Amino acid sequence: MSFRATVLTLYPEMFPGHLGQSLAGRALERGDAAIEPVNIRDFATDRHRSVDDTPAGGGAGMVLRPDILATAIDAVSPVGDPRPRLLMSPRGRPLTQARVRALAEGPGAVIVCGRFEGVDQRVIDARDLEEVSIGDYVLSGGEPAALILLDAVIRVLPGVMGNAQSGTHESFEDGLLEHPHYTRPQLFEGRAIPEVLTSGNHKAIEDWRAAQSLALTRARRPDLLPGDKPDRTAARQPAK
Ligand code: SAM
Repeated sequence: MSFRATVLTLYPEMFPGHLGQSLAGRALERGDAAIEPVNIRDFATDRHRSVDDTPAGGGAGMVLRPDILATAIDAVSPVGDPRPRLLMSPRGRPLTQARVRALAEGPGAVIVCGRFEGVDQRVIDARDLEEVSIGDYVLSGGEPAALILLDAVIRVLPGVMGNAQSGTHESFEDGLLEHPHYTRPQLFEGRAIPEVLTSGNHKAIEDWRAAQSLALTRARRPDLLPGDKPDRTAARQPAK
């Protein structure tokens, strides 16, 4: 079964964007994944095709109207659609590799891209939208965030990455940052490839990578290491 994403947006021309190239592009061509952009403005009811209005209570900016967005959501995702409904939002739970993997195992997603000050809270509640953030910063619209989410999901769909094992040792898959990589030439501006990597000793290489991975995570992302996790080497054992 392929992964089908319907993206509700005011800028449908932004999709598939860069996803049309490289890994995800090939998956889209093969039909392993589909991205269907739908213009929220097509569901506007006035002759100006307006989709937003001023914030209740005052303040700067505009807010996406709940009635128009709800009609759009219902049109693309009728009752019984098993796909989760996501709203890209800086207030959402941060996107994680675990959530990416879970989405990739499902039938797809309906993704709402916010604009302006955001979306009327009542449609978030009424249509049970799961707010998803791609980081602690504010973009001008949900489209780049949706593209990032789709890129992350499509690359882990079965068969998309060439090597079946590639991806399973990457950052966040076992809760850690990945170890550093090296390739030829052996000597670059006086810097050599760490000897262990050219030793041919697979156990020593695995141990070195596990230690590097843990040290990097401790230094850069100690938040990924809750509690006492003295030995994470076992989590890095290659798949049999
Ligand atoms: N007023 C909102 C706030 O302070 O939380 C920010 C609105 S932002 C200018 C417009 C839209 O961009 C949002 O509705 C959302 O769809 C998207 N967006 C901005 N930052 C995002 C982030 N970090 N993750 C996901 N979506 C984001």
